[in-house]
Amino acid sequence: MAKTLSAVPDTKRGLLRSEEDLAAMPASERIRYRLVTADRRFHANDNIAAFVHEGELEQLKAEVQAKMQEVLRALVIDTDSDHNTQETAKRVAKMYIEEVFRGRYQPMPAVTEFPNAERLNELMIVGPITIRSSCSHHMCPIFGKVWIGILPNEHSNLIGLSKYARIADWIMSRPQIQEEAVTMLANELQDRVRPDGLAIVMEADHFCMHWRGVKDSDSAMVNSVMRGAFLKDANLRREFLSLLARKDSR
Ligand SMILES: [Zn+2]
Repeated sequence: MAKTLSAVPDTKRGLLRSEEDLAAMPASERIRYRLVTADRRFHANDNIAAFVHEGELEQLKAEVQAKMQEVLRALVIDTDSDHNTQETAKRVAKMYIEEVFRGRYQPMPAVTEFPNAERLNELMIVGPITIRSSCSHHMCPIFGKVWIGILPNEHSNLIGLSKYARIADWIMSRPQIQEEAVTMLANELQDRVRPDGLAIVMEADHFCMHWRGVKDSDSAMVNSVMRGAFLKDANLRREFLSLLARKDSR
């Protein structure tokens, strides 16, 4: 993967900047500098909370607002006399940072893991979990559902049912690509729960397909990830998919 070093001028690459230099930068440049020097990826669907210091989200919001105001200006919208758009830049900045893309800026929700004391080893299905996201390509909404199948073993950690929805929401509240979102969710659950088998199915409606382009109004996209026992055992896979079909028709 190519690294983005454009944020750091050639002469400064590999050199630490003083706190004073950093403080003089816009918050977005400061955070970008930390990410680049730590060699961390910061794609649209990456979480960067560890690189955002206290108070910087407010500064980011102000920056996004100012740039958004410029976008409205470039669209030749008279935000001075149009009462509908006077506060639009501010509203959009708040919506991005605090709401629809908060999964980039907020740390992972706290999740307590329990040892599998009862040694549960039966297929467990969580879902449908309602998903709200946005596509990275057009920043249009994505609405959908996710089902998670877990086959625990005696060494697995268990997490509360509501936590699956919390983790899914954290990953989806970013500009996403459905295939990558499903893989990210699978990786997160694999690391925490460490089951014998993990299956995830996501079915979602992409609003960029309705609103623009082909204007296809019937275009749900389905993605799945199967790991461990779900890959090896066709019966288990069938059991998961049949339970999911039944839940869907309720
Ligand atoms: Zn799109």
